[in-house]
Amino acid sequence: MAHVVITGGAGFLGSHLSDAFVARGDRVTVVDNLLSGSLDNIAHLRDNPAFSFVEQDVIDGIDVDGAIDAVLHFASPASPNPGSAKGYLAHPLATLQVGSYGTHNALELAQRHHARFLVASTSEVYGDPLIHPQPETYWGNVNPIGPRSVYDEAKRYAEAVTMAFHRTYGTDVRILRIFNTYGPRMAPDDGRVVSNFITQALRGDPITIYGDGSQTRSFCYVADEVRGILALLDGDLVGPVNIGNDREFTMLELAKLVIELTGADVEICHEALPEDDPTQRCPDLTIARRELGWSPEIHLQEGLELTIPHFRAVLGL
Ligand code: NAD
Ligand code: UDP
Repeated sequence: MAHVVITGGAGFLGSHLSDAFVARGDRVTVVDNLLSGSLDNIAHLRDNPAFSFVEQDVIDGIDVDGAIDAVLHFASPASPNPGSAKGYLAHPLATLQVGSYGTHNALELAQRHHARFLVASTSEVYGDPLIHPQPETYWGNVNPIGPRSVYDEAKRYAEAVTMAFHRTYGTDVRILRIFNTYGPRMAPDDGRVVSNFITQALRGDPITIYGDGSQTRSFCYVADEVRGILALLDGDLVGPVNIGNDREFTMLELAKLVIELTGADVEICHEALPEDDPTQRCPDLTIARRELGWSPEIHLQEGLELTIPHFRAVLGL
């Protein structure tokens, strides 16, 4: 049995990871300040003796007792939506700080306990990519002073400080680059595209496509993502490693699929494209497939069919 600390574990991805660790017999401590996460996501774990929750801002430090075998740093606002109170544009300085001080604190905790460290980086390190699909060797096309830079540069710094600990102290690290992942427990007001489209369709509101809807993303169902994260954590590869799904869709295709699967009778409307919104995004999964023996298995339609009932329940619709 291992003791795993997950920062940001009350969020969407972190709570699914907590479930996976507890299911395989590990002990989990979640450290979260509930900025964009929710106690609802971990309510089913709170009475489990293998699970603990510490409410703490990891920018200030991380207080966890006892031996630790792995630290997974997932704390960070993650939604780019300018209108979302949970998104990183509403918390620009906190986002930069959780990527810098927060990552530093999580690395020090891992180093002190001789624990393995895994950082949740992102496809956003590639910015608005000029190479397609994106391999890990691509250095990216990020606007360092644009609004999204508070997230993109924080994550790029998080990767840099992770490698600096690895090179300086020999810290046992893993760098994970997550591509658009969705599923149950995404907050309906999170502002990201899958949660927005499903919430709008169920409420009978118009589906808001930003721009003309020709921009692409490649959506990974959370169960596939969690399997990939565990494969990276358990393996020998430092990374970075892209984990996502390499089936690419336009936002117009996504909107039509959500309308079809919810059976909603709603219009599609177009709103302004946010500044620096990436035009296309798709992971090159060669390394994950070859080195981790991992592949995504769940098609977007199947994943949406598993996700929509969660939103129906949460929204009471
Ligand atoms: P989420 O918002 O549901 O989870 C983030 C969690 O971090 C929340 O519970 C939040 O309260 C917590 N948090 C934020 N700042 C904190 C702080 N200073 N101290 C303690 N806790 C803090 O988002 P998610 O989709 O689950 O994302 C989890 C991680 O994965 C993030 O680091 C995100 O950047 C990364 N990521 C996610 C995706 C995706 O598609 N879901 C893609 C790329 C990267
Ligand atoms: N998007 C959209 N309508 C919405 C929310 C998002 O058209 O209501 C678009 C957004 O402009 C982007 C894509 O969907 O092109 C994915 O956005 P998301 O916020 O999920 O995350 P990103 O991939 O940009 O980090």
